[in-house]
Amino acid sequence: MRDGFIITEGVAYAKAVIFRNEPVTITKTLISDAQIDNEIALYTSARDRTYELFKNEAQNATSQTARDFLETAILYLIDPYIAEQIKTRIKVSHLCAETAIMQSYHDYITELLTSNDPFVLHNEFEIRNLAETLVLELHKKKIVLPNITEEIILVCNNITPAQFLTLNIDKIKGILLEDGNTNSHLAIVLRSTKIPAIFNVKNATKIITNDTMVLIDAFNNHIYLNPLDELIWSVQQKTKNSIQSGTAIDPMIAQYRKLSNGRIIKILANISSIAELNNLKHYPSSGIGLFRTEFLFMNYTREPSEEEQFFIYKQILSSLPDKYSVNFRTFDFNADKLPLYMTTQTAFNVGENTIGATNTNTIVRQLRALLRASEFGTMKIMFPMVSEYDELASLVNLYNKVKDNLIKEGVKISNVSIGIMIETPAGALMSGDLAKLVDFFSIGTNDLTQYTEACSREVATHRNDELTPAVLKLIALTVDNAKKANIEVCICGELVHNLNYLALLMALGLDVFSVAPFYLSKLLDTVHSTDINLSTDLSERIAKIKTKAEILELNKELINSRS
Ligand code: PEP
Ligand code: MG
Repeated sequence: MRDGFIITEGVAYAKAVIFRNEPVTITKTLISDAQIDNEIALYTSARDRTYELFKNEAQNATSQTARDFLETAILYLIDPYIAEQIKTRIKVSHLCAETAIMQSYHDYITELLTSNDPFVLHNEFEIRNLAETLVLELHKKKIVLPNITEEIILVCNNITPAQFLTLNIDKIKGILLEDGNTNSHLAIVLRSTKIPAIFNVKNATKIITNDTMVLIDAFNNHIYLNPLDELIWSVQQKTKNSIQSGTAIDPMIAQYRKLSNGRIIKILANISSIAELNNLKHYPSSGIGLFRTEFLFMNYTREPSEEEQFFIYKQILSSLPDKYSVNFRTFDFNADKLPLYMTTQTAFNVGENTIGATNTNTIVRQLRALLRASEFGTMKIMFPMVSEYDELASLVNLYNKVKDNLIKEGVKISNVSIGIMIETPAGALMSGDLAKLVDFFSIGTNDLTQYTEACSREVATHRNDELTPAVLKLIALTVDNAKKANIEVCICGELVHNLNYLALLMALGLDVFSVAPFYLSKLLDTVHSTDINLSTDLSERIAKIKTKAEILELNKELINSRS
């Protein structure tokens, strides 16, 4: 059948299970008498959960605007008049809960707007948002994920990282996805689990049916339905060969590459789960360049406490050699990467707080847990999505306060360097000033590409499939500013997996690369064979680049011009 693009290499053979994740669309569904009680119960339980959620958020909100927003929403949520309207629509008009909710809030707004009440005019947005949140909450509980009890190939149109992580992952041998992109959060999670995966397999959920036997060859990008034994045997040989070459590497010897001119290139790992740490034994790396801490808590139904976090961070550091540094990135939640305990609304607040305001409970809790764990290994801490100078200044201030308080409490804290991700165009453009406040940068090409090219990283487009001239210019600027400030600069987005740019990135002055574990050996070998020196006259060339093809040409030229 038609193949897509490989996310994780490997071979898998098992029975298909189809999962379709339908977007929340509200179709007017009429219900029978027998369904009335159930629909009313669905509405009231979604309302109660939303109430708890908003109440908690209002208590923890650090800005008055956020508190006001939530408190107003609560008023409309528990309004007995609207509740009665919704129930009547379910009982009398036989509407399903979603339609009854949307219609009731819509009519309520119209009714109040015609009365020209300025208070309501002002709250129209809040009421609409509330109705949508309620419906989402209702749907979240309605989505039935497959109950996986035996080895399967999961075939889906799309699935969120949080949904995926709640499945019985050990039994998932392979994944085929109709949509998706190499930079997506789901791709990152899949790479971390090493489950062979192919994305963009058009119509997979329509062509494949439940229980079809599926063979995925995610080395050669082939998918076979109901294959013959001979074919299965020959494809499976490839896995054996690849495992043999993987185990031949001693991770603690091949930590970095020294180039012919003495320059050292460090190779680090991107990690998202505890399970992945064990795999590090099989691959060469001298540290973890990006630990995506948000993925540790994706399937929590409430925010993890300081103690829970401390325990996990301590375990991670204790399981690794002393000098093996771990760069913990603080929580980086957003609409595409939400744990079960968050809604888009709360994520927005956290995102705003993480990078902007001081004194937020979430960030303080995480920093305390991290710093308390620091004595158990070599720790770095990195903040995501930083783009403004004063927001970073207040973040650094907050960090220092948290640290001072812990020291006063008698907690032993090791030397921790702090850094930021440069993953927005604003961050790259401001990197000269930002460099003065931190010890290192890490360039995140996934978000940098998404925000520079104005295209979602979750779907494949011609703008985000390769290194673009605009992104290259921002990378070059960031590296330049890091060098001027004499701070370390690493690159950690999925773009690094495309080895067609390695010579250029090395020539630019990048000498720390962080990639998914199973790319480590390949990267290390390519660094060695590429053996590129730092090029001092690249800036003029880069300034003139207009097309993606010119970038590839420049990369080739650099390889050919090696002395
Ligand atoms: C990035 O944006 O490039 C990055 C490495 O971070 P994440 O993929 O976790 O957003
Ligand atoms: Mg990012």
